[in-house]
Amino acid sequence: MLVTPLTKLLDIRVPVVQGGMQWVGLPPLAAAVSNAGGLGILTALTQPNPEALRQAIRETRKLTSKNFGVNITLLPTINPPDYEGYAKVAIEEGVRIFETAGNSPGKLIKYFKDNGCIVIHKCTTIRHAKSAQRLGVDVLSIDGFECAGHPGEEDIGGLVLLARAAQELQIPYISSGGIADGRGLAASLALGAAGANMGTRFMCTVEAPIHQNIKEKIVASTEQDTVHIFRTLHNTARVFKNKVSTEVVSIERRPGGAKFEDVRELVSGARGKKVYETGDPDYGIWSAGVSVGLIKDIPTCEELLKRIEKEAEEVIDGLAKLKVPNEKAKL
Ligand code: NAD
Repeated sequence: MLVTPLTKLLDIRVPVVQGGMQWVGLPPLAAAVSNAGGLGILTALTQPNPEALRQAIRETRKLTSKNFGVNITLLPTINPPDYEGYAKVAIEEGVRIFETAGNSPGKLIKYFKDNGCIVIHKCTTIRHAKSAQRLGVDVLSIDGFECAGHPGEEDIGGLVLLARAAQELQIPYISSGGIADGRGLAASLALGAAGANMGTRFMCTVEAPIHQNIKEKIVASTEQDTVHIFRTLHNTARVFKNKVSTEVVSIERRPGGAKFEDVRELVSGARGKKVYETGDPDYGIWSAGVSVGLIKDIPTCEELLKRIEKEAEEVIDGLAKLKVPNEKAKL
């Protein structure tokens, strides 16, 4: 068993958090991850309004007696969400673990901390991590450039970002972006992390509430199958490379550039949601990390977390064997 500050703080068996994912972080997945020993997370904005989140929390409780969390991400949106309403409902329903991410999270973090909650804050730079640390978050989720969704604008890969976190941070942190197996978890621990956040990996599980075609599309893809959109709008997002994302990139590269209005219809979340419902990978934009290249199957969450745990332990044992007493090394 791997015991880390994360497993102790969250009372989980495996140091793995299923990160918030728009349209994917629904009760069946969050409950399955928590039942398998990790921390499942419901994505608040996937619900149309705060009352729907209340029902989703109640549904998740029926499926698991274990801890789970709620993600609230603060990024530009086509329709402004009622962030405070989602936060209030989750607190009222007894949720005590939150994953926050995005721009200007101070007010939300303070609200959760004032209500005695554990906050895992996801960020893509050490500067933001240190400012979240000052705001009193409990754990930082250090999101490398490999990640799905929004990697920020500074393009620092996970290896350096995590090593920088080890130099600079005083509170526990977990890795995020590019982690999909036990090797990635062991590497994260070696870089000082207390665990790993995985998103894309959990899209390819039996319990992920998305169309089977999309899971199979991920299994068939390589690490070269993602692309960045919104680079020119300073809201970069890593998404699956398909007809729509390729068109968005070409519109952004037009002489004179593009305004959000020029791509709004193509990129809308409502359209992306249809990808997961219909199984047509080319219908809209859908987030995916470079870890798609590591994903080769569609296990249950239980099988996946057991395998990740075993593989991480084997890697750690293997590393320990590299260290031989000095006398033997001379022979
Ligand atoms: P949406 O339909 O409102 O917007 C679609 C995409 O366009 C999003 O990536 C959004 O950030 C971007 N966008 C919207 N307005 C913009 C603007 N004025 N300038 C530049 N970019 C703009 O998004 P949605 O699918 O309903 O998702 C709601 C929010 O959740 C978005 O901010 C999205 O980025 C974010 N999100 C959250 C997660 C998560 O895990 N919680 C994952 C992916 C995306």
